[in-house]
Amino acid sequence: MKFGGTSVADLDRINHVADLVAEQARTSTGGVAVIVSAMAGETNRLVGLANGAAGSALVGEAFDDEYDVIVASGEQVTSGLLALALRRRGFRARSWLGWQMPMITNHVHGKARIEDIEGNGFPEAIASGEIAVVAGFQGRTEDGRITTLGRGGSDTSAVAVAAALNAARCDIYTDVDGVYTTDPRIVPKARRIDRISYEEMLEMASLGAKVLQTRSVELAMNHGVPIRVLSSFVDTGDQQNSGTLVCDEDEIMEKQVVSGIAYSRDEAKISLLGVSNHPGIAADIFSRLAAANINVDMIVQADSRGPETANMVFTCTERDSELAVSVLTDARDEIGFDRIVVDKDVAKVSVIGVGMRSHTGVAKTMFDALFAKGINIQVISTSEIKISVLIDSSYTELAVRALHSAYGLDTVS
Ligand code: ASP
Ligand code: MG
Repeated sequence: MKFGGTSVADLDRINHVADLVAEQARTSTGGVAVIVSAMAGETNRLVGLANGAAGSALVGEAFDDEYDVIVASGEQVTSGLLALALRRRGFRARSWLGWQMPMITNHVHGKARIEDIEGNGFPEAIASGEIAVVAGFQGRTEDGRITTLGRGGSDTSAVAVAAALNAARCDIYTDVDGVYTTDPRIVPKARRIDRISYEEMLEMASLGAKVLQTRSVELAMNHGVPIRVLSSFVDTGDQQNSGTLVCDEDEIMEKQVVSGIAYSRDEAKISLLGVSNHPGIAADIFSRLAAANINVDMIVQADSRGPETANMVFTCTERDSELAVSVLTDARDEIGFDRIVVDKDVAKVSVIGVGMRSHTGVAKTMFDALFAKGINIQVISTSEIKISVLIDSSYTELAVRALHSAYGLDTVS
């Protein structure tokens, strides 16, 4: 069981979580491990303190090992508080910090990756009937320094613990009652999805749906750990709270052609105009961007004014766009192009579904629906199970709503 920041926001909520855990412990035949986030807002506060002490915002390469010591403390507090609340209910429970388990990670401070859970007495404690309350988000390096797994990382901690223990399931409790076909704030007719495949969830998470950290889904898929997303804001024993199961495609009987619509406004479009067109030009441009750690998403290359020159258009996050422009502008003479233009008023809207593999006409439906609303498509990219388009960001809501009904996802009331 994993509880996010809003689920452990204060002592009242922690007590409620203790009731949910207590009920699980009473009714389940196996043991229970609980993974907790810091109280809502706490990690932001700690990041602010760390940045203040460092004298600048620590991002990217600048993460310090002391940053992790500071921000990991939020989860230490909630793990201790929940262990106490469980003891008060008559259970044997104890907290486990990342370094105690230990959760071994690499040395990339601020966004470390888990390498191994050594399980120093940890599985044995659970097998003995003690409830393990694990501080999420944190680990340690081989040589004993504290690390954190990147924002939202306690989802990944939870899946890693579930995989290490061969758990039947990883229940991720949050403030929504599951994964929806799209953002219900934009489309009130969005539906909760009963079951979704790992691959679709991976696309949804990386394309903008914020329910689960992308890496946690990747880890669950690789280890075959089913994840259930459900609400902690319900009474204990609520049978309706079945949430959304993220599982293997084979376990989904009723497959939709399109399962969900995702969107992201954190996009920037960069156009290199009049690039001298010769073999190796794309390799040159994109290796410069890769060297600067810029994650490029959509790419289009087209001839301009004839085959000797091309326009190269790509997208990245808004934050990366400034760096991308300066890297490319610095190399203008070597690359050879006329102009570079940045547009941050763009959004990416994506339709996702494993059914696309076997159905035709999915792209046509998307383009027709956008055309019917007069929305111009600037860039298109596809994978086996998703189609993404880049549009003017002021049309985001309109596009998401139009696509949601075009694929028959609206609830019928
Ligand atoms: N507390 C951390 C964060 O806010 C980790 C998490 O909640 O998943 O990013
Ligand atoms: Mg989260």
